[in-house]
Amino acid sequence: MNKMAGSNLIQLSFALCFLLASLDASEGDADPIYKVCLEECEKSGCVGGKCFQHCKFSSDGKPIDVPWYLQEPLYQKWKQWDCGSDCRYYCMVAREEERQKLGGKPVKYHGKWPFKRVYAIQEPAAVAFSAITLALQFHGWITFLILLNYKLPLRPDKRPYYEYTGLWHIYASLAMNFWFWSAICHSRDVELTEKLDYSAAVALIGFSFILTILRAFDVRDEALRVMVAAPLIASVTTHILYLNFYKLDYGNTFLTNRYPPGKIINILLASPLGPCINVTSHPSRWKVWLFNVGGILAVLLEIYDFPPYKGFLDAHALWHVANIPLAYICWSFVRDDTEFRTLTLLKKIK
Ligand SMILES: [Zn+2]
Repeated sequence: MNKMAGSNLIQLSFALCFLLASLDASEGDADPIYKVCLEECEKSGCVGGKCFQHCKFSSDGKPIDVPWYLQEPLYQKWKQWDCGSDCRYYCMVAREEERQKLGGKPVKYHGKWPFKRVYAIQEPAAVAFSAITLALQFHGWITFLILLNYKLPLRPDKRPYYEYTGLWHIYASLAMNFWFWSAICHSRDVELTEKLDYSAAVALIGFSFILTILRAFDVRDEALRVMVAAPLIASVTTHILYLNFYKLDYGNTFLTNRYPPGKIINILLASPLGPCINVTSHPSRWKVWLFNVGGILAVLLEIYDFPPYKGFLDAHALWHVANIPLAYICWSFVRDDTEFRTLTLLKKIK
């Protein structure tokens, strides 16, 4: 037990270190020239010689030359999002070109490095890697379902023997939800997609933490599970409500900086599997080790936070690359765990 507590404590202290390291605001968007460019663009709809169709607003925020039937709030909002996003991007490109000419190094804007867009996708590398991880999460979940329902024996009432089935189903849904919104958010970063991405991240982290405790301490009693989960679900829900309805803070809020969700997810995702190795003589404990070490190395990648290579591949994109094998290892362990627990229970029955 002490060993387990120690392992979780180390992971928690790691998470806090990364949080503290990420409290700085972005240099790029604090730059007065960039700010002026943004203000002017939002008024005129132009940066340099480039003008954007969807920036045509009157002073009260209503679109100027759009038919009356299209002038409803959602459409208007979408236009404003598009306008804001284009203004930020082209002001950033213009400012970065100026900086480069003066021999300056790239700086971050709104918590992100200056990336090159591909077909209006803001961070194509992160989108592609998120999509692959999403596909692997889905594959992992499907193979888990097949193993559970078709390859392993079922109880007389047709329920699986494995006691953590429902919990892994919830985990799969939350993980797929997170990777989906991660891909969307990296392709178009507006307030709505960012809120959805952060909310999905917080939900996944929160549930991973619950799963950690339940699996590590082998909690099988339903009442005890509810007792453990209830306070954690309450705090996760509160945090999601805070993000969505109070403040989506880039700099100072727990979990809401552009990158810490990923970092903390990595650490906490490691933990559902981590403590198992301390309590059981699990035949697949090496996968847990591999997952934990891989997860920590992936996080270390992000500490060395370098600007995107050729405008595409930054440390965060590499963190996304690292998540591809990690997703595979995670589900591989879950399948092994399913088999291991089912066979152990069958032996007991016999
Ligand atoms: Zn990401």
